[in-house]
Amino acid sequence: MGLWRRVSRPEKVAAAIAMAVAMIAVAALLGWGVGNVTLTSVLAGSLALQPSTAIALLVGVVGLLAGAAGQRWLSQLAGAILLAACAVWLAAYASPHPLPTDLMLFRAPVLAQTPPPPWPGRPSIVTCIVMGLFAASLLGVGQHRPGLRLAAVTAASLGGLLAILSILPFLLQDASQLAILHQSLRISLNASIALGGLCAAVLILKRNTGWVQVVSGGGERARIARLLTPVALIPIVFATLANHGVRAGVYGPDVRMLLMTMSSAVALLFLAYWAARRFGHERAARDGLTQALERSTVMVVDGQGRIQHWPKALQDLYGWTADEALGRRPVEFLKVGPATRDEIAAAIRERGEWRGEVLHRTKDGGHRWVAIQWVRQERTLDGEVRVVGTISDITGLKTAEASLQESKERLRLAVEAYDLAIGDVDVATGTLICDDNSERLLGLEPGGLNNDLKTLSAMIVSADPNRDLDIAAGAQQQFDDVQVRRADGEVRDFHGVRRFFYSPEGKHRRTIGIYRDVTEEKRVERELALRGDYLAALRAELAHVSRLSAVGEMAAGLAHELNQPLTAIGNYVGAVKLLLGNNAKPLDDIAYARVVRAADQAEGQAVRAGEIVRRLRDFVARGEADARIEELGPLIRDSVALGAPGALSDAIDIRLNLSPLADRVLADRIQIQQILVNLIRNAAEAMLDGPDPHILILGTSVRNGMVEVSVRDNGPGISADLAARLFSPFTSTKPTGMGVGLSICRRIVEAHGGEMWLADTSGGGADFRFTLPLVEKELRHAV
Ligand code: ADP
Repeated sequence: MGLWRRVSRPEKVAAAIAMAVAMIAVAALLGWGVGNVTLTSVLAGSLALQPSTAIALLVGVVGLLAGAAGQRWLSQLAGAILLAACAVWLAAYASPHPLPTDLMLFRAPVLAQTPPPPWPGRPSIVTCIVMGLFAASLLGVGQHRPGLRLAAVTAASLGGLLAILSILPFLLQDASQLAILHQSLRISLNASIALGGLCAAVLILKRNTGWVQVVSGGGERARIARLLTPVALIPIVFATLANHGVRAGVYGPDVRMLLMTMSSAVALLFLAYWAARRFGHERAARDGLTQALERSTVMVVDGQGRIQHWPKALQDLYGWTADEALGRRPVEFLKVGPATRDEIAAAIRERGEWRGEVLHRTKDGGHRWVAIQWVRQERTLDGEVRVVGTISDITGLKTAEASLQESKERLRLAVEAYDLAIGDVDVATGTLICDDNSERLLGLEPGGLNNDLKTLSAMIVSADPNRDLDIAAGAQQQFDDVQVRRADGEVRDFHGVRRFFYSPEGKHRRTIGIYRDVTEEKRVERELALRGDYLAALRAELAHVSRLSAVGEMAAGLAHELNQPLTAIGNYVGAVKLLLGNNAKPLDDIAYARVVRAADQAEGQAVRAGEIVRRLRDFVARGEADARIEELGPLIRDSVALGAPGALSDAIDIRLNLSPLADRVLADRIQIQQILVNLIRNAAEAMLDGPDPHILILGTSVRNGMVEVSVRDNGPGISADLAARLFSPFTSTKPTGMGVGLSICRRIVEAHGGEMWLADTSGGGADFRFTLPLVEKELRHAV
């Protein structure tokens, strides 16, 4: 019983059939023994089941049961015995002699049976053939080779068919009419039922092979097969029904023929109509589906890797038409690399699926990135293995990804090159996302900020730590200077810019800030500022000292200069006194005119003396370097008056060669005067030692947006040796000279953004030049 429970349902059905067949065989043997005709032949008057057939059936039953129980060798042994027996019986039909087995059992009743079989006691030819086919199919039980399995199913199918067909005459004719059948085709009814059952049982056992699999399987194909198989029974049913009319004497065999033909034709017509409707519908539905699939990027490949389905959507994607793609291997023309190809093949073989991204070539030689999913389908309705590839074009995505990567890379470079800290704040949650570099600049380990703005705010020492949360509505960006106390306690300066982002409702949502550590820059800046103040003070001091020393040097000359107008004034005043004192009488017109002229001249000389004093005061008065727009002409004239007063100017031919284009400069008047006075005095001193004429030319011109001033004399000039260190302090050839004049001059010029140099004068004399920033015409108007 345990074994019975373990076997599966089809095996149980096969075993049940075997038991039924065994009962038929045993009943027949019993019938022979007790002389019961119904047990041996079912229909009275028809052929009886011979004792040897009954024994053979029992052997077959054993073989079948062994097969159902998985006893392969026993089943095959039974098959071999039966096959051999059938071969012997069939061979014996060719000989006129009986076989010893023919009358081995129940000799007397077997010989006495009516109607008599061709050879009493021996299975009929049809029985032998059906039994032989069944025996052959038993040999294939348990075989795994597909060919043998198919052969077994074919043998069982043929045997079963023959058994069914041999039942037909019993349905069509009276038992008496069976006698008209050719002797060799005659078979007993119970034998044909038993053999048909055995063959059917074999097919049940072999349900995974051939047409049995198709009919018993799942899906549309099996459904249709199961639906159509009974159609074969329709003519049999009609024939049986029509035959009843003949038997009852309602009509003759001619009408029966007509009825059978007509009914079969009507049945077939119905069937054809149904099939047309059914398959037409299905076809249309399938076409509709195919049409819909034309728009989807799905590729179907058969078991050999050749393309079976190539929709329009793929033509649009790759450029190849269906005609060009169908039947080819996708890897061939889509140019998938060998490594990827092998990987895909292995994955589909092992897991039945692969998904990934590949680069495919298009017909025009371009490339497309696609995301593809290959799925193997095994249980297809037609039994074919197929691999279905679902494709999505991700070229755009890839390009975007690449450019994103590039810009990330650029950002990384910038962050590295400028040592930037970048932070992204979600205002609502206070989450701060920043890179490792930011944390490093803050002296923290990677992850030290813990993505929390509060951690950073706690480190800020200079600004309002909550400033992120209350931004002036609508502000786009803001420069930011903060001081941060690093994790190691050091306070550092950061300069950056913060950009604010808003929700569509205008709520401040996000801030991105980029900062740079400017601690060093700030320190240098502070030092420079300090140094700059010091230098400026030093320069002013030096200029003052230099002016004072220049004043000292000028003092004697000026005393003389002042003496001259003062003496003249004295003279004129004396003359006036004389004119008025010696003559008490009123003045005549001539005397009056003389007095007036002398007074006028005295006044003129007094004005001149006053002018000399004013210039001196201006020059000496200490002032900060204060660049303004100055007119060069008056400035140069004043300087000449200061540098070469009175007698000196008489001894020297001073010429001014001033360009009207170069008349305005941006300069500190007093400082430039100081330069010019120094140059004029140097020139005068140098020339006066030499022979006449003494010519001093002061010229201006415009060069490269600057005014170039030239002070040129025809004195002895400057030796190359002296020229080399001329502008160094304490370079002097004069016994009382300090030798700082030229160096101060050059420094003043440089402080104005100009240059000073000794020009080449191959014609003799010295030509000192310096430049000052020119004030352009437009600016002049504006001022
Ligand atoms: P100092 O006038 O006190 O000597 P400077 O720096 O003004 O100092 O001049 C340096 C030297 O350059 C002078 O001693 C003189 O020898 C020389 N020098 C300056 N100007 C001229 C000139 N125009 N011609 C010849 N030598 C000059």
